[in-house]
Amino acid sequence: MKTAVFSTKPYDRRYLEPANATLDQPHELEFFESGLHPNTVGLAEGFEAVCVFVNDHVDRPIVEQFAALGVKAIATRSAGFNHIDIQAADKCGLPVVRVPAYAPEGVAEHAIALMLTLNRKTHRAYNRVRESNFSLTGLIGFDMHGKTAGVVGTGKIGAAAARILLGFGCHVLAHDRSPREDLAAAGVEFVCFDELAAESDIITLHCPLVEATHHLINAESLAKMKEGVMLINTSRGALIDTDAVIDAVKAGKVGHLGLDVYEEEDGLFFEDRSDELLQDDDFARLLTFPNVLITGHQAFFTAEALTQIAEVTLDNLTDLESSGTCDNRVSVS
Ligand code: NAD
Repeated sequence: MKTAVFSTKPYDRRYLEPANATLDQPHELEFFESGLHPNTVGLAEGFEAVCVFVNDHVDRPIVEQFAALGVKAIATRSAGFNHIDIQAADKCGLPVVRVPAYAPEGVAEHAIALMLTLNRKTHRAYNRVRESNFSLTGLIGFDMHGKTAGVVGTGKIGAAAARILLGFGCHVLAHDRSPREDLAAAGVEFVCFDELAAESDIITLHCPLVEATHHLINAESLAKMKEGVMLINTSRGALIDTDAVIDAVKAGKVGHLGLDVYEEEDGLFFEDRSDELLQDDDFARLLTFPNVLITGHQAFFTAEALTQIAEVTLDNLTDLESSGTCDNRVSVS
């Protein structure tokens, strides 16, 4: 399929091109560094498919322009699809295909990396030791063994996180719309969200961003948590009400905050902005806290995941081209 690939980084090409070359019938890929927005949507003219990433907002007007330009399909190089108006795409007859899972263990491992770094302050120790400052003051952590860890959403990533936490000797609580017997058998205790919030020393978010989970972490739910709770979000930024969590960090209610995603990350993440003045005051405030650690949406970023993303995205396009259907099509319901 002749496909316009938006938001292309060098690493996207590095994995997509070799994977495409192995196909019997390779796709005709054209790479655009630019993200997708009203000024760039016209680049899709003459293409049968567009390939997007998480911060390309495929809203209704963009979908309608795609349809008018003759685009026949939308492939996202991600599992999450909250950046695409699925109803609008369906109405315009554009199937949306995604990569349902890519190295979920890698994302879970990144959540654990945030926990360990925040807890044992290795980011601060690294800088100190390089300056020959061997003082331990301010570096006290806690044993994760024996602590209660709460996992919100036990799909592919949450389940992997729960298993790692069990391995650490944590008492693992979980909350999901559909509790899993395999995890319960392994020792995970499924509870309601309020109980998880009240009992956990560490809370890690792995549910998708949908209407029901938007600002799941807000002033009210934060108030139910333990003093000094560690909160980790590698899922989607808008699961957390940023203003509320800033207040909670200031008050000491949240003792450690690890974010790989941020509510307003569009237009911020995935680019080198080191020469720019940061305009987002909430983000700037978060950066001032020593007990807040932010990474720029890199939890997925492993060689294994990039390989799977490239292969599955290309297979999705092949399926659509050959049969008009695809197992990885996002259903409207
Ligand atoms: P998944 O679909 O396998 O699992 C999601 C789980 O959340 C399911 O078990 C579902 O039942 C549960 N859930 C849905 N609504 C819920 C609710 N209201 N309360 C509690 N649980 C609920 O998804 P996954 O592959 O595990 O991915 C989880 C999320 O991680 C994705 O939605 C995506 O946003 C995010 N993600 C982030 C990165 C990254 O690089 N930071 C990479 C991949 C995925």
